Amino acid sequence: MPNMSSRTKAIPLSGIREMMDLALTIPGVLRLEIGDPDFSTPKEITAAASAWAASNRMGYPPNSGLPELRAAIAAKVERVNGIACTAANVNVTIGATGALYLALLAAIEPGDEVLVPDPGWAGYPAMVALAGGVFKPYPLRAENGFRLSCEDVAKLVGPRTRAIIVNSPSNPTGAVNEVPEIRRLVDHADRVGCWIIADECYDEVVFDGAGACVGTLAPLERGPVLSAFSFSKTYAMTGWRVGYLVAPKDVATQVTRMQAASVASATVIAQRAALAALDGPQDAAAAMVAAYRRRRDAAMARLDGAGVPYIHPQGAMYVFVDITGSGLRSREFALGLLREKAVCTTPGDAFGANGEGFVRISLACSDADLAEGLTRLIAFVADSAKC
Ligand code: PMP
Repeated sequence: MPNMSSRTKAIPLSGIREMMDLALTIPGVLRLEIGDPDFSTPKEITAAASAWAASNRMGYPPNSGLPELRAAIAAKVERVNGIACTAANVNVTIGATGALYLALLAAIEPGDEVLVPDPGWAGYPAMVALAGGVFKPYPLRAENGFRLSCEDVAKLVGPRTRAIIVNSPSNPTGAVNEVPEIRRLVDHADRVGCWIIADECYDEVVFDGAGACVGTLAPLERGPVLSAFSFSKTYAMTGWRVGYLVAPKDVATQVTRMQAASVASATVIAQRAALAALDGPQDAAAAMVAAYRRRRDAAMARLDGAGVPYIHPQGAMYVFVDITGSGLRSREFALGLLREKAVCTTPGDAFGANGEGFVRISLACSDADLAEGLTRLIAFVADSAKC
C-alpha cells in the first residue's frame, strides 16, 4: 500500500472511543457516557422530512443550503441569539462539526496555532490536526468553575496563533462563560488579528439564565467571530447531521466554495427537517430542556447528599463529577467503575489534562439509569477511598 499522508497520521484517537468499545462487551451496562439525546426527533420534524422525500424533489440543494432555511436560520440567530444577521451570513453545514471544520479551514494556514479549551470537547484535537493546525490547549480551571479566563488565554496567544475556540455551555463541564471575560477576549483577539471560533452547539440547552453568544459581542461583518451552531441537541437531531456557520459575508462566500469542493452540501432531507424544526412549535424542544434540568437537579441532589463534589452545570447535558475522593486517577476510576459496577462514564482526561480528577456523566439517559448509575458511582468512590 502507498504511504498515507502525514495529515492522516496526525489525527489522534479520541479517548472516548475506548470506553464505548469496552462498554459494548459488558452486558447490561448503564451507559452514562453518551452525549446523544435519548429523545426522538419531534414528530412534526420527521413528518416534514418524510413528506419531502415522498414528493420526489430530491435534486441537489445549493452548496450553502436551501435559501428558505438560511433565511429562517438568520431570523432565529437574530431572535434567539441576538446576532444581527442575514441569510448571506449563513452556511448550512453537516452538523456543528461541519461548521467548526469549515471555520478552521477559513481561518488558519497550515502550521498556525489554534487555542482550544482544556478540558474541552474531545472532537477538537483531530479537527485542528485535519485542518493542518497546531493544537494548543488553554487552561480552564476547576477553582473557577471551568469558566474561561481571558488572561489565561491571552498569555498563550503568540505570533502563530490564528484562532481561539470557545465553547459555552461547555461539553464536558456544563460551565457558562461570563460575558465581561468573553468581551475582553473578543477585544484582545481583534487587536492581535486572531479569529474566535465560537462553538454554540448548546446555545438553547441552558438552565440558569443565559450566558451570551460570543457573536453578540462584535459586529458580524467586521469579525473576529465565526459561530458554529447545531440542530443536534436542541431538537434531538444528532443523526440528521445538520448545523450552520454564521460568519461575515466574505467568509460565507468562500465557505460555500469549500463546501462545493468537499461535501457539496448537507442533504436536502435534513435541511427540510431543520426548516420544519425552526418553523414548527417549540414545545418539544422546551420539554427536552426541562427533562435535562430535572435530571441535573436530581443528580446534584444525589451527589450533594453523598458529599461528592461536582461542577454546577449551567447548561449542556453533562455533569463533571470530582472523583479525587476515591484516590484514583480519572481513567483508573472510569475503567474500575465500568468493570466492577457496570457503569460507563467518560474519564475527564479524555477532554484534556485539566480534566484529570473528574469523570463526565451524561444527562442524556433515562431518569432511572441516571439514578442507579449515580448510586453505583457514589458507592465506588467510597469503596475506592477505603482501599
Ligand atoms: N461541539 C460540541 C461541544 C459537542 O458536544 C458536539 C457534539 N457532541 C459537537 C460540537 C458536534 O455536534 P454536531 O452533532 O452538530 O456535529
